[in-house]
Amino acid sequence: MELVQAVTRAADELGVPVILQITKGGMKYASLPYLVGLVNVARTQVKVPITLHLDHGDSFELCKQAIEAGFDSVMIDGSHLPYEENIAITKRVVDFAKKYSVSVEGELGQIAGIEEHKVAEESLYTDPNVVADYVRRTGVDSLAISIGTAHGAFKYKSAPKFRFDILERIHAAIPNVPLVLHGASSVVPSAVDTINRYGGNIQNAIGVDESILAKTIPLGVRKINIDSDLRLVYTAAIREYFAKNPAEFDPRAYLTYARDQVQQLVKKKLEIFSIDNAQ
Ligand SMILES: [Zn+2]
Repeated sequence: MELVQAVTRAADELGVPVILQITKGGMKYASLPYLVGLVNVARTQVKVPITLHLDHGDSFELCKQAIEAGFDSVMIDGSHLPYEENIAITKRVVDFAKKYSVSVEGELGQIAGIEEHKVAEESLYTDPNVVADYVRRTGVDSLAISIGTAHGAFKYKSAPKFRFDILERIHAAIPNVPLVLHGASSVVPSAVDTINRYGGNIQNAIGVDESILAKTIPLGVRKINIDSDLRLVYTAAIREYFAKNPAEFDPRAYLTYARDQVQQLVKKKLEIFSIDNAQ
């Protein structure tokens, strides 16, 4: 609830639409009816459009479940499958989603890091030569690509190598398809510092600089996934609050502070990544 409020209030403050994503792990934690209910209530509290999206759908059944529960958009992640199998499962989800006017995000190439407990050791960059064929044969509305970002807070051993050349070729091949960057948190250094200062232990966490990410927008990127940053800022705020207010035990006190911090972070992200500011 606090995260839904933080994200939607930040969008409302700026008057811009926003996409809320739920993963299989989120569903397991809170249950689908709770989450859909929270988002539907949030829609009555803000003026801006809120899109509800399934992140990393790993089966047709999970996508179907989300679509029937009222999601506006789903991702079917067949990126770990052989090419033809990726096309087959993605097309199956697209065909089902169309009946509900739900949009579908597919993925080509593999993003390194941990996503929902699945670990990919290395990035497999998206092959620009096949993206047009993939989009045509699956009918996806948007495409997640791998150009050097990584999931989670421990992304890189050294400075990340971003393949803008690959992004340029993908965008040239499918100029009208919105592209999606996963693993695009900046791993907010001040949040990591705060966590470590107040008893946490997060080492070697490096993210992608926001100024680099903003440069992907003129090259067709339209969705930038930043959940790790939300988690870090939320956790940092709670640790800081506990350290400074050791007698406090009312969740409403420390979660108010944490919620406000996330709202400010999301507002900043939305400003940095607005089309007007991207260059
Ligand atoms: Zn992802």
